[in-house]
Amino acid sequence: MYGYAGKILHVNLTTGQLTIEEPPESFYRRYVGGNGFVAYYLLKEVPKGADPLAPENVLVMAGGTMTGIPIAGAGRSVVGAKSPLTGGYGEADGGGFFGAEFRRAGFDAVVVKGKSARPVYLWVHDGQAELRSADHLWGMTTMDCQQAVRSELGDDNIRLAMIGPSGEKLVRQACVINDLKHAAGRTGLGAVMGAKNLKCIAARGHTAIPLADPEGLRELARWMVEHWKDKAWQLHDLGTDGGLLGLNEAGQLPTRNFQDGQFEGADKICGEALRDTILTDRGSCYACPISCKRVVDLKDGDFVVDGNYGGPEYETIGAFGSNCGIDDLRAIAKANETCNAYGVDTISVGMAVSFAMECYEHGLLTKDDTGGLDLRFGNAGAMVELTRMICQREGLGDLLAEGTEIAARKIGKGAEKYALN
Ligand code: SF4
Repeated sequence: MYGYAGKILHVNLTTGQLTIEEPPESFYRRYVGGNGFVAYYLLKEVPKGADPLAPENVLVMAGGTMTGIPIAGAGRSVVGAKSPLTGGYGEADGGGFFGAEFRRAGFDAVVVKGKSARPVYLWVHDGQAELRSADHLWGMTTMDCQQAVRSELGDDNIRLAMIGPSGEKLVRQACVINDLKHAAGRTGLGAVMGAKNLKCIAARGHTAIPLADPEGLRELARWMVEHWKDKAWQLHDLGTDGGLLGLNEAGQLPTRNFQDGQFEGADKICGEALRDTILTDRGSCYACPISCKRVVDLKDGDFVVDGNYGGPEYETIGAFGSNCGIDDLRAIAKANETCNAYGVDTISVGMAVSFAMECYEHGLLTKDDTGGLDLRFGNAGAMVELTRMICQREGLGDLLAEGTEIAARKIGKGAEKYALN
């Protein structure tokens, strides 16, 4: 069978048992891969009414059919579970290198059930899989976790899909981070890993995905390398933020918790401004020549930022920038770094901050609630600090870490109408 390893790994964290399923070709033809596999296993395995943070929830990680083949765009992988943020079907996908490495390690997907009594991580390599203690990793940022696992296993090319401290603390916006800067961000799936005491999945593999027409693929890959500049130069040059000014012009840029669609500071946070001010490098995903990812490394000033955590993309700039009334790219880059280190979704956390700002401006939250923070729209320092507080479940951040819907219910006084995810 071409395009697949032909193996699905099943992990029961309650018993510690690992089993390998080898589905028939009809399964692969029907569900194809990626989110098809996620939907299949979630619909089949998650009991009706399951609590997303209980052992009965199921977490699925899968590569797509093309993940891991040597061509641009083949680096993505998907994570799914019942969402602790929305209570519904939860799915998020991320780029980077983890997905390709996982597939080359000999598996098409992993299905995780139950809850481990102690923190563990899953190590998959060349058709083998084992659970290892993660007691020493618990509490670590994503960077510390990646370094510790690579050093423990003696291989700097190991790729990780992991949670940070926020996933461990069951922050409902927690996400799964690949390679420090690529997030499977949406729907709070990092909290599901945290609830299962699963710190990360580490992958290393040397098995190529079987291809029906390797020479045809090589030819296509060569064509893409030769022609990507004709079609995707702007994506390389400006990143996903390259469309921000157009959205602003069209009245579609989220501004001050979606009260408006145009932001007067758009020209200070657009892709051109990022390129011309704080951009220090560009990054890429597996086998992709476009390198649309931003890297921001700030050594001094109000906001010091470690470039290993990448840099903000459009959604992050919209969430922490215009939607919080902020035109300071350095502050936005700092919030992005904090989110990647602690492992939370920049979009949902940005929405929690803008929600709190609107509540504050309407008097539903006061300085007594915010720990003294002046949460008016446009206060960059307050945005960065509240982001950290959400990641660490500190003060008002503890309430907002429940997600805006639950937080609005607890705040009351009509706060629900300002709640967005
Ligand atoms: S670098 Fe950008 S364009 Fe290339 S695969 Fe990653 S997200 Fe896609």
